[in-house]
Amino acid sequence: MPSLTDALDALLPQTQCGQCGFEGCRPYAQAMAEGRADTNRCPPGGPQTIAALSQLLGRPARPLDPSCGTHQPFRVALIDEEHCIGCTLCIQACPVDAILGANQCMHTIIEADCTGCELCVAPCPVDCITMVPAGRDWTPDDAHAARDRYQARNERLNARHAEAIGPAARTLANKPALATLISDHDKQDRIAQALARARARRS
Ligand code: SF4
Ligand code: SF4
Ligand code: SF4
Repeated sequence: MPSLTDALDALLPQTQCGQCGFEGCRPYAQAMAEGRADTNRCPPGGPQTIAALSQLLGRPARPLDPSCGTHQPFRVALIDEEHCIGCTLCIQACPVDAILGANQCMHTIIEADCTGCELCVAPCPVDCITMVPAGRDWTPDDAHAARDRYQARNERLNARHAEAIGPAARTLANKPALATLISDHDKQDRIAQALARARARRS
């Protein structure tokens, strides 16, 4: 039987944006179920979601807490591919695997999978990601698919973390630290050079 957390989570938009002050939709649902959070903290859900959450919990529906943000029409991220330096920071920030790309290659957004969470915008070192109107509404089907992608990503990252602390990783960790240092410096040099090229192109 679904728990109260499950029922509350099912009403949330699943953009995983963190504007509610929690790491994602489910931690917020859990906090509401445990009486630690009010129902008015989800800007993407807006008044409709506040009403549904409040009804389920038998609480009064209060207006959206302005400290969390504002309710806006659904937008998606767009990468200006000409200026992308392929640093992969946006891929690492995206909670639902909606970005395609590889190190030092141009990146692109899978528009149909983008939740509009904006988490990729700030990390981009060359400011080539903007939010643009999606031209459609965010639907319950979108929310369902976003939750699946979020969970799949977390499972993959957890598995990778388990590998990273396994015996092979421990052996690698015992190798001379110099090799790691050199490759880190090399990486930083390459990012600095790419940034300089991007700035030169812009000016
Ligand atoms: S969609 Fe709402 S509940 Fe989910 S993380 Fe964003 S603000 Fe929190
Ligand atoms: S592409 Fe950007 S805005 Fe879209 S889901 Fe990923 S992090 Fe969020
Ligand atoms: S963060 Fe910006 S520059 Fe880096 S890969 Fe993403 S879009 Fe390209």
